[in-house]
Amino acid sequence: MTRRGLGLAHVPTPVEAMDRLAAALDMAEGALLVKRDDMTGLAGGGNKARKLEHLCADALAQGCDTLVTGGGRQSNHVRMTAAAANRLGLACTIVLSSGTPDLPSGNVILDLLLGPEIVWAGPVGYSGTEEAIAATCERLRAEGRTPYPMPIGGATPVGALGYVDAADELRAQVPDVALVVTADGSGGTHAGLVAGLGDAGMVLGVDVGARGDLDDYVPATAAKTAALAGRPEPAGDVTVDHDHAGPDYAVPTEETWAAIELAARTEGLVLDPVYTGKALAGLVTARRTGRIGRHDRVVFLHTGGTPALFTAATSRALAERYGPGDCR
Ligand SMILES: *Cc1c(COP(=O)(O)O)cnc(C)c1O
Repeated sequence: MTRRGLGLAHVPTPVEAMDRLAAALDMAEGALLVKRDDMTGLAGGGNKARKLEHLCADALAQGCDTLVTGGGRQSNHVRMTAAAANRLGLACTIVLSSGTPDLPSGNVILDLLLGPEIVWAGPVGYSGTEEAIAATCERLRAEGRTPYPMPIGGATPVGALGYVDAADELRAQVPDVALVVTADGSGGTHAGLVAGLGDAGMVLGVDVGARGDLDDYVPATAAKTAALAGRPEPAGDVTVDHDHAGPDYAVPTEETWAAIELAARTEGLVLDPVYTGKALAGLVTARRTGRIGRHDRVVFLHTGGTPALFTAATSRALAERYGPGDCR
């Protein structure tokens, strides 16, 4: 581990064998593992805790008094940023790219309890949200504050340093790791893993449909992150699987639900419909097509996101999937 930082994230996270899931995918015993970055703590856990370790340290070093970020209505990053601000005694403003919900659910419940200033920006999309974050920082500066802006997902080279830490941690836990499979939202997690492992061929990112430029963003950010961490330029080509994003970000498909059920019913492992369900669907396909061999040592990165299960959208999807009267 490169450093313990501010102590926001509970690390090292456990690595667990998934032998029943491996058997379902015709993989050898011990070949398939899960790294539980859903257990990092910070108001519900997830991959953003590791990024926030570095981002918040940077904010404090710069003398900032207000963390500012944004995302979709069910953003995990926004929720965890609000929690980090409270832990550190900083103010926080979050921008959510949706209208005000009629009833709060999932992450929004946690946002309301954590109490950051919330800017409901309307359905402005990915780049519109980034613009709204910048405009919010302007307003805060005019009010005499010193904001620390973070892009969607905390996707900067500084944030990605959290996944250099995770790569070091994983190498110590699983020295013969051959492939890490992760969801790609903003792409920062993938970039940090590549920088930390030093070989882009060791990471398969599964695009969940959040942004259109991952094929450029991930390699560029991996190189910048490696330089920032004092690591060599990563070898190999970055691979992003674009085949499991479904029609849009946060819209799960039949195969997303099938992957979520598979993990739940073989391992008791709960995935989410926005990120990790799509990532596991990508892993299943990679195994079916032979991209993953029977004996390859593969680590599925569980990046969190469980709060998004507890939304009206999930209730509606499952009522349709299982039938309204079915309580299985
Ligand atoms: C943000 C997020 C991701 C994607 O991480 P990026 O670094 O933005 O690509 C994956 N899973 C969950 C649960 C997330 O909240």
